[in-house]
Amino acid sequence: MPIKQLPSRLINQIAAGEVVERPASVVKELVENSLDAQATKIQVDISQGGMKQIKISDDGVGIPKDELALAVSRHATSKISRLEDLEVIRGFGFRGEALPSIASVSRLKLASRVENAEAGWTISVSGGGDITEPLPVSCPQGTGIEVRDLFFNVPARRKFLKTARTEFTHIQNWLYKLGLARMDVELKFNHNGRQVFHFAGKTDADHAKTRLEKILGANFAEQSIWLEHENADMKVSGWLGLPTLSRSQPDMQYSYVNNRAVRDKTFTHAVKQGYRDVLYHDRYPCYAIYLEIDPGLVDVNVHPAKLEVRFRDTRSVHDFVCTAVSAAIAGIRPAAGAHQVEHYRRLVNENPETHKTYAGSGAATGHASPKHASMSFMRSAQLPDSRAPSPDRRPPDVSSPAQTRQQTLTQGEIPPLGFAICQLHHIYVVAQNREGMVLVDMHAAHERITYERLKQAYRKNGIRNQPLLVPVTLKVSAAEAALCEQHRTYLEQTGFEVDRIGESALAVRRVPALLADTDPEAMVRDILSDLAEHDDSVSAEDHVNELLSSMACHGSVRANRELTTAEMDTLLRSIEETERSGQCNHGRPTWVQLSIDQLDKLFMRGR
Ligand code: ADP
Ligand code: MG
Repeated sequence: MPIKQLPSRLINQIAAGEVVERPASVVKELVENSLDAQATKIQVDISQGGMKQIKISDDGVGIPKDELALAVSRHATSKISRLEDLEVIRGFGFRGEALPSIASVSRLKLASRVENAEAGWTISVSGGGDITEPLPVSCPQGTGIEVRDLFFNVPARRKFLKTARTEFTHIQNWLYKLGLARMDVELKFNHNGRQVFHFAGKTDADHAKTRLEKILGANFAEQSIWLEHENADMKVSGWLGLPTLSRSQPDMQYSYVNNRAVRDKTFTHAVKQGYRDVLYHDRYPCYAIYLEIDPGLVDVNVHPAKLEVRFRDTRSVHDFVCTAVSAAIAGIRPAAGAHQVEHYRRLVNENPETHKTYAGSGAATGHASPKHASMSFMRSAQLPDSRAPSPDRRPPDVSSPAQTRQQTLTQGEIPPLGFAICQLHHIYVVAQNREGMVLVDMHAAHERITYERLKQAYRKNGIRNQPLLVPVTLKVSAAEAALCEQHRTYLEQTGFEVDRIGESALAVRRVPALLADTDPEAMVRDILSDLAEHDDSVSAEDHVNELLSSMACHGSVRANRELTTAEMDTLLRSIEETERSGQCNHGRPTWVQLSIDQLDKLFMRGR
């Protein structure tokens, strides 16, 4: 066949293949256009999952009569005009492709009225055919776009559409994503004439909580912490679900770059890394995270539907996000009710007006108002009413637990996790605090604390170790002996000195001082089997962390004995002070709170 220029209708239909995958992509493009047009109210009506009809109306700036035809023409946009503009994109659109693409595979009607115009004007296009002449129409300021019979002229693509229910869900998910990015915009969504949701357009804390609850669930709204961190080039903020909220699928992860919902490997990986110490490998954290970055440092023109972005400096974005997330996770403490106050600061910053309400609630002074404090982030998944201890009751810094008890009692202060009462079956510590009862999984907590100490010691000055009076020799396979030699440096970094003393024999000469009481042979065997499983891509620090984690695990499990009350109190104080101590090394909770209210309910005691 000879080479020939394709007709523009066909070009649009080809472009539609990239931009318009399904009804949800139409909704996404149209709603983004409305946002670019400064709409403050957007209404989305669809029928049959959007396959039959999609209607979007906004109160944006509108399109003048003589530009209507351009809007649905290929490569026509009001958003950029020079190459340089591409480098600093602030809005959603810029390719001038969405409307013509959509119009080439559906029946599209566009009506719009600009400010101060006497009337609105409407045009229509069917299957990418001729654009009709504008006709006057009565409509409010803004734009309304109706897309009917998507893919009516491309049966091959129509076949790829799923059930109305599935397509509806895709649309809803998209609107949720947008909803989390733009709390200031009122969003209405109706399916088959029935309201699905109606979000008001407000930026105050209560509204943010409502949207979080609707979109990510009430659990998330209660059990998440606010993250905020910035440097000269970037700022990251958002809500991080507690590690105990993790899921088996990455279905509750919302990431935004300059308020654009994206799926970006760097970003996702960075967040995952930030959680790595507190989650099992096959669990996924829940979060909504917003990265703001100089538009010059990110390229949004790498994906036709603009779902992906490319960072100039991937490494620094990765490290920045990872560090921020991991520090926020590390900062979770029993007395972290204050995080709830931080929760909504982002929105408050955006809107000076709401600042008044915020300050009025007493939160701006750094103390949680009762209202905020009651949004307890404590383990309330199963325990919806638990109250976080007030944040200004930090555990006092004292050396001996007995002294702690004396001091705090005289001051009428009770530390967040209270005081130990007894031990249950060598597994749980029962303690009493202001709210009621605290149950601690002794081993899980001990393991986390040991692990955090090992890590800290390791970072500071390498691990202090001590010689064994009599070196322990152990028989291993030749492969294990070789493995041990190969990882000698790692072992040394973690406090072990193990020599190969034959084809298949090892001698353990030194062990980490922290683990001096534990069985050296069992530890070394466990570590060797861990090492054997490692793949080489694991970074040095991960490697060391995993070693430390398994050391902590073996060390803690073997330290199985009765604790005195003083020791139990020390454990409670350590949990309060230790980073990430709310979860064991695998993300399970290390303690739970049962409030008197909850206990009353258990016993059906009315008050
Ligand atoms: P892009 O968004 O990349 O510019 P589109 O094909 O989505 O391309 O839209 C083309 C143009 O039509 C936009 O640049 C904008 O000027 C105009 N437009 C589209 N939708 C709206 C709307 N809802 N309100 C005002 N103008 C709009
Ligand atoms: Mg657009």
